[in-house]
Amino acid sequence: MAVLEHLTSQQAIDLEDKYGAHNYHPLPVVLSKGEGVYVWDVEGKKYYDFLSAYSAVNQGHCHPKIVDAMVNQAKQLTLTSRAFYNDVLGKYEQYATSYFGYDKLLPMNTGAEAVETALKLCRKWAYEVKGINENDAEIIVCENNFHGRTTTIISFSNDPVARKNFGPYTAGFIKIEYDNLQALEEALTNNKNVAGFLVEPIQGEAGVYVPSEGYLAKARALCEKHNVLFIADEVQTGIARTGRLLATCGNCTCADKNCSGTPEVKADILILGKALSGGAYPVSAVLANDSIMNVIKPGNHGSTFGGNPVAAAVAIAALDVVKDEALAQNAYDLGELFRSELSKYIETSSIVTAVRGKGLLNAILINDTEESDTAWNICIALRDNGLLAKPTHGNIIRFAPPLVMTKEQLLDCVSIITKTLKAFE
Ligand SMILES: *Cc1c(COP(=O)(O)O)cnc(C)c1O
Repeated sequence: MAVLEHLTSQQAIDLEDKYGAHNYHPLPVVLSKGEGVYVWDVEGKKYYDFLSAYSAVNQGHCHPKIVDAMVNQAKQLTLTSRAFYNDVLGKYEQYATSYFGYDKLLPMNTGAEAVETALKLCRKWAYEVKGINENDAEIIVCENNFHGRTTTIISFSNDPVARKNFGPYTAGFIKIEYDNLQALEEALTNNKNVAGFLVEPIQGEAGVYVPSEGYLAKARALCEKHNVLFIADEVQTGIARTGRLLATCGNCTCADKNCSGTPEVKADILILGKALSGGAYPVSAVLANDSIMNVIKPGNHGSTFGGNPVAAAVAIAALDVVKDEALAQNAYDLGELFRSELSKYIETSSIVTAVRGKGLLNAILINDTEESDTAWNICIALRDNGLLAKPTHGNIIRFAPPLVMTKEQLLDCVSIITKTLKAFE
């Protein structure tokens, strides 16, 4: 079979185009190798990765400690299903629950599955603990959310591209404006059947929208007052990306090497994915305390691959790396530097109107319409100059490099970015 033959970039693109479903519109670059903050294309050109697989590769590409854990476990035992116990899952559950400060963890594979798990857990809690009548539970979500691609999740999306012609939609969701406490309070007060509030601490896919200072803590307090579960989707913002272990850590300074996992805003249900494996393997999880998690009984929920020994070994290693290498602190420091350097450039720029974000989850706003292809063309030019990024919405470019970057590398990237942008003025 010719699969192992060396392909040119164009050949690889043509194959995907002909034989793959067209559910993505990739930037035209074909990667074949990654190490740390760098990736290489099949022609051998080297790039800074400024997407990190949507913040899955926080620990850097092919981190040796994570790859070793994966390979060693893969040689030993890869899958038992949960019909039997394996000797790694319990260790991982103990490690991760103490790391994030929860009683229990429910292991899944992808982010969307973990969100689905959280929704099911919340509904079951509503009926069995809160006492809402069966089938009446409502979950509050935010406009412009992104929580994944399943039928239920796209039911409460307001992105027409993600939704259209996938109905009928799952009922039981109330949509309110993001970063609007009054809207949340009204939804909680006007509806007696609210079970949970599902929220991204920063809206990543929507274009890196950072809510007002104090929003999450106040939202959490409102939920507590109404006996409603505060559900944090930290699939993209978690695991050191925003300069803290979790974005819900707020300004709490525990997100260093010795973080004991007690965030400023502690979610009742915490959803993790992406960087939980450092990008080596699909690993996601839902964390909660016993009073919530114990509503799940044998047979209620599951996944053949969820909690498999490779995933468990990979996740332990990936979380170890975050603390060993103080990635939260590094993301915090480099994020401050990145935004201050870009702000200096923006003062005199006609093409960029703002930079925003936290830690190393940032975005710039391009001075053009959402329908324009300026941001796309800038990303093509960035590629030509050795840096890979992608527009989130028409005129917003997200910048999210691996967190293992050094200060020198970051400054090199700032100069690539500003040089590229200047050519568009
Ligand atoms: C990526 C993402 C998801 C979905 O994760 P998948 O692994 O792609 O299913 C859910 N929530 C947020 C906030 C995300 O960024």
